[in-house]
Amino acid sequence: MNNKYVAPPYRIKMVEPIKVTTKEERIKFLKDAGYNPFSLRSEDVYIDLLTDSGTGAMSHFQWGALMQGDEAYAGSRSFFRLEKVAKGITGYKYIIPAHQGRGAEQVVLPQLVTRDGMFFISNMHFDTTRAHVELAGARALDCTIEEAMDTTTYHPFKGNFDLPRLEELILENGKENISGIIMTITNNSAGGQPVSMENMHEVKKIANKYDITILIDGARYAENAYFVKQREPGYENKSIREIALEAFEMADIFLMSSKKDGLSNIGGLICIKEDEDLYNQCRTYIVPMEGFPTYGGLAGRDMEALSVGLEEALEEDYLLHRLDQVRFLGDKLREAGVPIQYPTGGHAVFVDCKKFAPQIPYDLFPAQSVCNAVYIESGVRPVEIGSFLLGRDPDTGKNLESPLELMRLTIPRRTYTYKHLEYVADAVIEVYKNREKLVGLEFDYEPPVLRHFTARLKPVK
Ligand SMILES: *Cc1c(COP(=O)(O)O)cnc(C)c1O
Repeated sequence: MNNKYVAPPYRIKMVEPIKVTTKEERIKFLKDAGYNPFSLRSEDVYIDLLTDSGTGAMSHFQWGALMQGDEAYAGSRSFFRLEKVAKGITGYKYIIPAHQGRGAEQVVLPQLVTRDGMFFISNMHFDTTRAHVELAGARALDCTIEEAMDTTTYHPFKGNFDLPRLEELILENGKENISGIIMTITNNSAGGQPVSMENMHEVKKIANKYDITILIDGARYAENAYFVKQREPGYENKSIREIALEAFEMADIFLMSSKKDGLSNIGGLICIKEDEDLYNQCRTYIVPMEGFPTYGGLAGRDMEALSVGLEEALEEDYLLHRLDQVRFLGDKLREAGVPIQYPTGGHAVFVDCKKFAPQIPYDLFPAQSVCNAVYIESGVRPVEIGSFLLGRDPDTGKNLESPLELMRLTIPRRTYTYKHLEYVADAVIEVYKNREKLVGLEFDYEPPVLRHFTARLKPVK
């Protein structure tokens, strides 16, 4: 049998009702929320595509494991189970849990910033990673390949490092000033785009040449490994576990938000290959930040669920279906002419709103306008990744212009069916048909920092 998109490798044994609302109700909800979907009540959302972080469904094995949580403050049995699983997957010696990805970042990154004027270089820093680099007193430099900015042209690994640029950045800033190279896999901010194994090997060569530490920011390392298997010659017969292990061999530190490929609602990991001094520093530093190093801000039961989730996320049946769901939504939109980042990445479909609503200038937030129209049309909640999110230049106070104005339709893991995604596609296509009616948004209230979470907007008359 030749299926274009595979059926789910699971069946449903518990359901969570979601509320269907009318268009009139949604117009009011959105107005009350200041035209900012972050301020909606989730109850008033029919299909929530705000994020794939912590929003997935757990398996019955995970729910069963929750009951076995050992809530001891120190030396919890649940920690040792998690440690064993994480060591097995990464091949690393030292494992410390954290409450989520940013918890891991706030503990590890400052240890690598040993004096003023240091830098981290990444294919692309995720927002919280960038924030923790800056809080640690360092600067964050990005070097993704140019192809990532061109949404229409196919490239199998749009998340890749621009290797000549990487080397230039090291030479420009001095190798002794580089705190680390962060390989973000998949490259979240570039659209969940994968990084090839070949590219990682080249990054490793460069890091070795200049003696620089490599970190993997691997919230979606399993999705990345599956793309490698599908798209990179030489990997088609390797298991996901083998591919992941090859990636981990190249790095010294692995930081993970386990709310993604940990298939858990909360959790994070710090994994250190062999640097005992760094491990001891992190173990000390984590106590006042996250908690004692055998729980790191997690309940024992969370560590149990995570131990199971980490293994499940490496199953090929699961990964194939996961990536097919994203591809399905992307294909539906492309067939209708909606401009999207192509090919689709691992966790979301990104709609190119510069092309969708060219009549709206960047500082009236075209992608936010499209998100709002989709919510009113359907009750689906997307999220803006563009100039609204980017904020203002701290020196001039002017709105920064994002190179891409994107609406992200983020797919939670094991949560929605193909029928839900078809409904999402129909809604976006309907808005696309009426796209010339879309208008920009201006501020009613603008907070000084992280404005996208709490700002209130109003449509331009
Ligand atoms: C989500 C994410 C983080 C931060 O993790 P949280 O669990 O949200 O704190 C860091 N890096 C990447 C690539 C992520 O996707």
